[in-house]
Amino acid sequence: MLGMVACTAAGCGSNGTGRDIAETTAETGDPGQTTATEDGEAEILPAPGGEIARSGEAVPDDAYRTSYEIFVWSFCDSDGDGIGDINGIRNRLNYINDGNSGAGDDLECTELWLTPVFPSPTYHKYDVTDYEAIDPQFGTMEDYEALLSECHGRGIRVLMDLPFNHTSSEHPWFQTAAQYLKTLPEGQDPDEKECPYFDYYNFTKEPADGYAQLEGTDWYYEARFWSGMPDLNLDCAEVRREIADILSFWQGKGVDGFRLDAVTSYYTENAQATSDFLQYVVNTAKGNDPDCYLVGEAWEDQSAYAKLYATGIDSLFDFRFAGQDGIIAGTVRGNRKASYYAEALEKEESLYRSMNPGAVNAPFYTNHDMARSAGYYTKKGESRVKLAQALNLLQTGNAFLYYGEEIGMKGSGKDENKRAPMYWTAEDTDTAAGTAGGGSGMCQGPPDMDDVAMKYPPLDEQLEDERSILRYVQKAIRIRNAWPVIARGTTEVVDELTGDDTAVWIRKDEKEQYRSVLIAVNTSDEMQTIELGSAAVTAGYGNPVGVLDAGDGSGETEIALNGTALTLNPFGIAVLTQ
Ligand code: CA
Repeated sequence: MLGMVACTAAGCGSNGTGRDIAETTAETGDPGQTTATEDGEAEILPAPGGEIARSGEAVPDDAYRTSYEIFVWSFCDSDGDGIGDINGIRNRLNYINDGNSGAGDDLECTELWLTPVFPSPTYHKYDVTDYEAIDPQFGTMEDYEALLSECHGRGIRVLMDLPFNHTSSEHPWFQTAAQYLKTLPEGQDPDEKECPYFDYYNFTKEPADGYAQLEGTDWYYEARFWSGMPDLNLDCAEVRREIADILSFWQGKGVDGFRLDAVTSYYTENAQATSDFLQYVVNTAKGNDPDCYLVGEAWEDQSAYAKLYATGIDSLFDFRFAGQDGIIAGTVRGNRKASYYAEALEKEESLYRSMNPGAVNAPFYTNHDMARSAGYYTKKGESRVKLAQALNLLQTGNAFLYYGEEIGMKGSGKDENKRAPMYWTAEDTDTAAGTAGGGSGMCQGPPDMDDVAMKYPPLDEQLEDERSILRYVQKAIRIRNAWPVIARGTTEVVDELTGDDTAVWIRKDEKEQYRSVLIAVNTSDEMQTIELGSAAVTAGYGNPVGVLDAGDGSGETEIALNGTALTLNPFGIAVLTQ
């Protein structure tokens, strides 16, 4: 924490004075740089669409990105069958990142996480039948390779989703093992030499919790999720060799990293074995390519997933902040103090780095297993939906955004509803053929999805509205991308200015590579004025980088800087530099 201490060379900002930044900004020709007036008149800071100032610093090609999760089945359909596909994603790359930073209508996301694209009998495809092919419903290997190439041309990294806990019961490995057991003569014990695939899974004759009976036999197999997803025997050397082959196969194609599905299920109730296996995957992938990025899904308490950083994995999804019961939603709802959010952020950065100095937090707000956030709030919902996005996107690490959240899509209840078609347009386009074909690419959504009624307008309408959720999220990402310290720095809460309704923290880079910023947040639905001059460490932060105005435009309040007094409208955020 920052206390009442004087600003020292090591303590705040590192790359010079505000003058340097102003000059850099002028050199790069970026608009939006304003300075507080000294004659006592409040300077109204640009909002809502508004320009942002850029640091002018080169953004390194590292793991600290803004990532976009695409549920492939539901994102964009290129061929008119109503099913999202790889070419649909290619057709929408200009929406995700058009390759020109700062300008345009794109999100400026710099990494894609696609849910599994392997052949699979289900729409979600987390039960795989072939780990080295593309599901024909999604396209071809050539389509996938073209996507990789086009993404790399725009500076977008691509993460592949790998479920290694289980396969489909229709995977040839399982089918072969099952056939072997079904034809095994009465009284004869299985022999791995006769059928190595018998050892790929956990077969037993003792029925137990989490096991399913193999049809037509007195054998049972471990299947923790459901009978169609048999758990792999991750102790089996041949299984590990298969996994190493799968990693090499995709890395050879240029995949930049992996999202590892359900890592805490690798070994049920055996944290050490789970950690050891995760380390095996990490070491194998990084042995092929030290820059390979890995992020794990460990849906557990923070204390449990924090420990997995010791495996050397780059990132673990930060479940503590996510979902309708997470810290972000709790703060935005007013159930938690602003100070709780800021202090939790500060503490966890330190916790993760204590496990591994190279830890890169992976904040996210929702994913395909969680209810959409537009349903989290009742009063002043649109403002709260916006603020929550910023509280995710302004975190350190590699921040993830689930498709459709940037336009406030709805969807809750059964899983299918959480994966509703990306709401490109309300026009009745049936199953149009993606943007390349002139249509919207709207998908039909998962089988058995309810009719999900949307609360906010579709993307094409939000693009026309400077105060839309989309425009707010785009701006939050632009601020994140324009100031490398936001993702790469460390959070230091300014205690004197942080309380129930406001939080102020400095984002500082300990290696002194990047300029620091101050982030001030009003989590309440009332105007708040923060006297930045009252804390020694914040007095120098007088240059606005950008503001995030979560209002719907119906009020007359503004975000303003009057000398060192910063006024934030309800749910408002200001980012300042020295
Ligand atoms: Ca399709």
